Amino acid sequence: MSEELLALTAADAAEEIRAGELSSQELFETYRGRAAAEDLNAYVWVHEGPSPEVPPSSRLGGVPLAIKDLFCTEGVPSQSGSRILEGYRPPYDATIVNRLTTAGAPLLGKTNQDEFAMGSSTENSAFGPTLNPWDRGRVPGGSSGGSAAAVGAGLAPWAIGTDTGGSIRQPAALCGIVGLKPTYGACSRYGMIAFASSLDQAGPLTRTVTDAALLLAEMVGQDPLDSTSLEFPEPIEVPRAEDLRGVVLGVPEELIGPEGGVEPGVRARFDHTIALAEELGAAIEPCRLPHAPHALSAYYLIAPAEASANLARFDGVRYGLRVDGQADLITMYGRTRAQGFGPEVKRRIMLGTYALSSGYYDAYYGTAQKVRTQIAEDFRAAFDRFDFIVTPTSPWTAFELGAKTNDPLAMYMNDFCTVPMSLAGIPAISIPAGLSEGLPVGFQLAGPAFSENRLLSTAFALEQAIGFDGSRARA
Ligand code: GLN
Repeated sequence: MSEELLALTAADAAEEIRAGELSSQELFETYRGRAAAEDLNAYVWVHEGPSPEVPPSSRLGGVPLAIKDLFCTEGVPSQSGSRILEGYRPPYDATIVNRLTTAGAPLLGKTNQDEFAMGSSTENSAFGPTLNPWDRGRVPGGSSGGSAAAVGAGLAPWAIGTDTGGSIRQPAALCGIVGLKPTYGACSRYGMIAFASSLDQAGPLTRTVTDAALLLAEMVGQDPLDSTSLEFPEPIEVPRAEDLRGVVLGVPEELIGPEGGVEPGVRARFDHTIALAEELGAAIEPCRLPHAPHALSAYYLIAPAEASANLARFDGVRYGLRVDGQADLITMYGRTRAQGFGPEVKRRIMLGTYALSSGYYDAYYGTAQKVRTQIAEDFRAAFDRFDFIVTPTSPWTAFELGAKTNDPLAMYMNDFCTVPMSLAGIPAISIPAGLSEGLPVGFQLAGPAFSENRLLSTAFALEQAIGFDGSRARA
């Protein structure tokens, strides 16, 4: 029975529960058993106690959800992968958690991540790295690597993560699943432990495009608790497109050319997917995003600058860890932060503080903001001619554990193709586009702000044509 359950997508499972063919308790217990026994280190906490009762008529049917550690969940450890939040159990739920559980997706467990979502491999976690279900010697991507590995390995029917510069899309690509970063402001950030507030967005990590649409439909919407959130202009629909007639896709040379260092195997899957899109009726044309190659440099000033301010609150007084509370206040702050933060977080705090310091502010932070505006302009101009921009999600497939941990710049290159969309605040989705040497490759589509419905439809039509089979990772 467990194997039959495992074969169901979240949408299928919700349907069976609604039809009375499956009980949500049985589904929950099956997944809880798998989550509790897993050996990928995908979870940092798994639900305890009796399985939650969810009315079968609820919109998400009672299908359990894995949630990235950084979403505040009431009474449940929420550490953002950091030692500094050891012992912290928030007194409230993040708005997204609240919405999804209320809609009928009960919390199955909290998933591993890079500390404060800083990283591309989930190796920067205080809980140790998560392993890739396709090859346990390799990383699952990051920072939402726990969520991606859990869904890829069949340890959760679906999950949510956050994406600041690629943290949903890149792990989804490396684990052979679907990952969507919504338009900035589409989903409330309230209760998400902040990394870079002008970039952070919550989004779904799922087995299929349909599952992503079902979750997203419950996530979007204005929230009085997050003043940057917006009302989504239309309901999110279940995607149904069968062809791509009339759709024009732009292929930006700047992102897939030599600068991005796209691996030949990844390039081959990308070209194959483009050919499928053409068969479905899409027109494919080269496009220009002249400033996109500078996105990574701008991102690595803006994101650390915001992080240095956001992380100032972790001082040993208010949350989690306190080291040497007997010392004077300043000494206690210093010791707590020295022991509580890992090396990548410290690097970002130093970079960010420097970029914001008087005398350097204009040269670094100010210039990066100008580049950000140019990148958004490039996309705006491109969307006059193109419906979507397409790229490989990541230049390469899952790399070996430890391969990039000593080379931050090589690690940062993971997000070469995903960071531009984050800076522009536009939605982008990664779908599995097949395998290269046995490892999954992601195909990214990006559209204008609030184009999620069209983006999901296009991704759905392509997904059907690709026919990716992720079952090997669930075995
Ligand atoms: N890998 C990027 C970083 O380390 C993006 C992370 C993210 O999207 N949270 O900042």
